[in-house]
Amino acid sequence: MTMPDIPAALDRRVRPPAAGKPLVYTFSNLKNYRTCPEQFAQRYVHKSLPFVESDAMKRGNAVHAALEARLGAGKPLPDDMAVWERWAAPFDGRKVHVEQRLAITASGAACDFWDAAAWLRGKLDLWMASDYHAFLLDWKYKEDLSKIGQYEDPFELEIGALLLSCNEGQRRKIIGHYCYETGLSQPYDLSDVKGTLLKVREIAKDIERDLAAQEWEKKRSGLCKAWCDVLTCEHNGKRT
Ligand code: SF4
Repeated sequence: MTMPDIPAALDRRVRPPAAGKPLVYTFSNLKNYRTCPEQFAQRYVHKSLPFVESDAMKRGNAVHAALEARLGAGKPLPDDMAVWERWAAPFDGRKVHVEQRLAITASGAACDFWDAAAWLRGKLDLWMASDYHAFLLDWKYKEDLSKIGQYEDPFELEIGALLLSCNEGQRRKIIGHYCYETGLSQPYDLSDVKGTLLKVREIAKDIERDLAAQEWEKKRSGLCKAWCDVLTCEHNGKRT
């Protein structure tokens, strides 16, 4: 299914020169580029930063898997995740889709997640829809509960709504929430999927420009001091 009223983009695939494989955009890599292009280049183009799964990431993945089993197959949550039951129970008896992987081409056409033409990919934690409305939920595990709601970025939900609309048909209204173990985020209106597609294309255009020039901005922020692994960068606070 192709999104109506959206001018088709040139289906140009970004190919990192070293890896030779086309770069497929995701919320994570687009966000990383916006945070610091140099870090993005090291992570996704030069692939010089090994992936390290932290304990918090491991626990977050386990929570996602348990909620998928709970909502998709009726399997009770493990005892140490029972706190999430209050967020799963309201969906009992409803037609919900969980942990669905979706992808689109650069022109906004739906495609298989692993299709060679995939340009943007994402996984939707939970969604349900009527003919006119859609609802998205994104589980967010936080190791430190005092940080809940900090740095919340609805761009992730917006990308989910875009992927959903291109794959499952447009709805008049799309609302999304992040769901923490202690509560829901504010509701986000995700209905402007054309605006989201344009936003993604703008970032993709900047990435293509930098890739062609092999010039990546070193964008300094609070991450430089202790939260960046690009040790070749002169701004990195972990360098001795
Ligand atoms: S140290 Fe800062 S400027 Fe350098 S790559 Fe990391 S985030 Fe970017």
